[in-house]
Amino acid sequence: MTRIAVGGFLHETNTFAPTKATYDGFLHGGGWPPMREGAKLLEKMRNINVGIAGFIPAAEALGWELVPTIWCAASPSAHVTTDAYERVAKAIVDGVRAAGVIDAVYLDLHGAMVAEHIDDGEGEIIARVRQVIGGDLPLVVSLDLHANVTPQMVEQSDALIAYRTYPHIDMADTGRAAARHLALLLRSGHRFAKAFRQIPFLIPISWQCTNDEPCKSIYAKLVALESDAIPTLSFAPGFPAADFPDCGASVFAYGRTQADADAAADQIAALIASHEGDFHGRIFAPDEGVRFAMEAAQRASKPIVIADTQDNPGAGGDSDTTGMLRALVRNSASNAALGVIVDPESARAAHAAGPGAIVRLALGGKSGIPGDAPFEHNFVVEKLSDGKFLAPGPYFGGSMMNLGPSACLRVGGVRVVVGSRKAQLADQAMFRFVGIEPTEQSILVNKSSMHFRADFEPIAEKIIICAAPGAMPADTSTLPWTRLRAGVRLKPNGIPFTPAMKSPSTSPAIG
Ligand SMILES: [Zn+2]
Repeated sequence: MTRIAVGGFLHETNTFAPTKATYDGFLHGGGWPPMREGAKLLEKMRNINVGIAGFIPAAEALGWELVPTIWCAASPSAHVTTDAYERVAKAIVDGVRAAGVIDAVYLDLHGAMVAEHIDDGEGEIIARVRQVIGGDLPLVVSLDLHANVTPQMVEQSDALIAYRTYPHIDMADTGRAAARHLALLLRSGHRFAKAFRQIPFLIPISWQCTNDEPCKSIYAKLVALESDAIPTLSFAPGFPAADFPDCGASVFAYGRTQADADAAADQIAALIASHEGDFHGRIFAPDEGVRFAMEAAQRASKPIVIADTQDNPGAGGDSDTTGMLRALVRNSASNAALGVIVDPESARAAHAAGPGAIVRLALGGKSGIPGDAPFEHNFVVEKLSDGKFLAPGPYFGGSMMNLGPSACLRVGGVRVVVGSRKAQLADQAMFRFVGIEPTEQSILVNKSSMHFRADFEPIAEKIIICAAPGAMPADTSTLPWTRLRAGVRLKPNGIPFTPAMKSPSTSPAIG
């Protein structure tokens, strides 16, 4: 019987963000399922939109026996601590070593993990697993579309396969694709040639949406190029907030021959280059965006949805900045709702006061983001929740959420979802669980850059992007880069990075 060792370790690291990812963060998951080990991994990681949850049933359908190690993920943030990295990496490596005779390994990784002590988080894990299994066994890895792929990741694995949608509605599909490719490797005994191309400019996440151009047609071309000669081909636009040399977009192709792989990778890389000027769009200032939304709402039958993109907890924000809340209140917006402001202290105060009470709070703004501060105001406590609910939309795909003690607080015509734990506002249920019906609001402000679109596009009249203070600048060229590779442009058609930018006076904007 074919035996496959499986494991997963996912983190998207914004090295400029305020808070690190600890072992505890991986235990709880923060918007992801909690840590699973051994038999529990195979039992629980199913029927949700996660890479390994697609791989497991596909592998079982192929008649494979799976040997589970560990699977865990944490909310995007600053570096993974050395402690968390080494404990999880050890669980994977020891698990593979203890698996006995196996035929291959599948890993569910993100691709943009930076640990306190290791720049190339995934490259190091893959290399350590390779060390255990030797050069002959296939090692296949599924990756996030935001992977900052490194030469080491490509060299040490047999195939890397990235998601093709942003919002990521195909995470489980990518796990299934990894199983199909692994089946091909095992059946044919063939090892495919690899081609890896790094794209010479950073692509801000706001312009990576695969429902829109230029990504829509790039991915369509990529799908069309796959064939018997090119069994798998990926484009990862990357996560442009990790200050290390391999940050950014890349293309990786696997071909029957080196010429096949090179031709496919070059074709996609050239297509991306030809669209360099198309990765852009309008970003509103907070007041400008709120006024635009208020105006548009007068003629709209559905909500105007604002992406509070720079505090996206899916990109390392703490989901607690107050710039958009201030703009809503300052402009006297009505029938508006914003979520989620993560502030355990304020959630506790609301629970202590009870429904109907008026509480004076310094809400949110506690992460030390430059230009941000707590928002001091009186709030009406409208509804309380323990923060546990199901997120049935296409992004979370039926995951159980646990935001901890939560509340709906109201100030004038503005309602705020306050929670105690981070999760990206990417599901309508994240308003409903505290009594806010999103479809009945005039304006919704979501702390998310893109994933919310999967569940909110169908109910939105219009979606706009606002840039309030936060950890993930919509303009990647404004980050205090010091360690990119020379020549990479800091945004499409932007200035190239030179090592001279590495100046001792340049310190991260956020400490
Ligand atoms: Zn992603």
